[in-house]
Amino acid sequence: MAATFKGGFHIRDHKELTNTIPTKRVPDCDMHIFPMRQHIGAPLKPLVQIGDKVKVGQKIADSEEFVSAPVHSSVSGTVTDIQQYFHDSTAMVDAIFVKNDKEYTVSEDVCPKDYTKMTTEEILKTIREAGIVGMDGAGFPTHVKLAPRNKVDYVIINGAECEPYITSDHRYMLENADDIIYGLKIAMKALGLSDGHIGVELNKPDGMEALKASKEYGANIHIIALKTKYPQGAEKQLIKAVTGRNVPAGKLPADAGAVVVNVATAVAIANAFKTGMPAIEKNVTVSGDAVQNPSNFRVRTGVPVKFLIEQAGGFKNEPEKIISGGPMMGISQYNTDYPVTKTTSSVLTISKAEKTYDPDSPCIRCGRCVDHCPMRLMPFKLSEASRKDDIEMARKYNILECIECGLCSYICPANKNLLQFIRMIKPEVMKKVREEQKNGK
Ligand code: SF4
Ligand code: SF4
Repeated sequence: MAATFKGGFHIRDHKELTNTIPTKRVPDCDMHIFPMRQHIGAPLKPLVQIGDKVKVGQKIADSEEFVSAPVHSSVSGTVTDIQQYFHDSTAMVDAIFVKNDKEYTVSEDVCPKDYTKMTTEEILKTIREAGIVGMDGAGFPTHVKLAPRNKVDYVIINGAECEPYITSDHRYMLENADDIIYGLKIAMKALGLSDGHIGVELNKPDGMEALKASKEYGANIHIIALKTKYPQGAEKQLIKAVTGRNVPAGKLPADAGAVVVNVATAVAIANAFKTGMPAIEKNVTVSGDAVQNPSNFRVRTGVPVKFLIEQAGGFKNEPEKIISGGPMMGISQYNTDYPVTKTTSSVLTISKAEKTYDPDSPCIRCGRCVDHCPMRLMPFKLSEASRKDDIEMARKYNILECIECGLCSYICPANKNLLQFIRMIKPEVMKKVREEQKNGK
């Protein structure tokens, strides 16, 4: 029987639009734009000035803080501007513009490294210097994740890819299985573990086979078949399915003895050692019914999304929504000017939303949101607390445990957008908790 967690729901996934099409490389793009915000942590400062020449893999922005990750140029060329620009968070963010000379001259700093002869500190430094972060969208610096305060027993590669439409990790499994397991072995060495796990949803049997056929596969690599169910790829749900352990409320995966690394991140780790190339390219799914030819692309960071949409044949219908990420947890965009960053996994274009919400519809007390919430919360109570602006009520019903998966909204027969209400009050609750912690309460 496939491993899983309690709650969740199998959502129509639309993955057939792209999952069998080989990943294509995009042609040369004239201008690459590198936002200073591509990770969770301290902001970066540019290391280059307008007019400077840069090379592929050259570090162009960094911070001295531990929780940060540098940004590198993905092309060779000239820095033409440093200014605020569109970002998929929808905020305007400082960005470095590089005019591509299309020669792809590689930086002298890019050189392979043999991780088997390196200490843990050297491995973590290499991962940090390569600018590797959670490439699935999370953006947490990987060198921090691989240095937990407590000893862990598991490192798990997250191959669930449970968000509808997105197939970029699936294509990595089919086309880069060696790199995924190579990256896992580096993470195992950094964490002092002899075994590693890879969780893959059952809807990717060819992905599991490709991993098992890899020359890097062996008896210490455990491929776990996961039930196809949303949100199987959320960290806490993946850990429960693979290890049987619960991450305690308010704690991190490492507190349950596990570290989770995404498939795309494992590939980036492998590249940083095999060739020495930092995180400058990744798979991005361009999908949805508004685009002519849904596809997966291998993209150098900094390419504007509108360029990617042109490579997918342009729009065939007027998009009602453009989303960075998946339909459940992604962020709606105002335009397609924003660039691909290390954390862009998908660009979704939808001509008509599958579901519309009614902010005033009454709850019919059916209990479906409670039955399916993967965190065992009572979403209708959280929404009620938000409508009443009742912080204590929201705390009583454990709002801070909500992983914002959006399943409660998706599943509600009364079309209540529960997540929207949860997101309205959650920051206020967080602020109150932080104030109390500061005051020693
Ligand atoms: S968004 Fe939060 S409350 Fe709603 S189902 Fe997901 S975890 Fe539960
Ligand atoms: S799913 Fe919707 S209607 Fe049913 S209990 Fe939850 S909020 Fe109410």
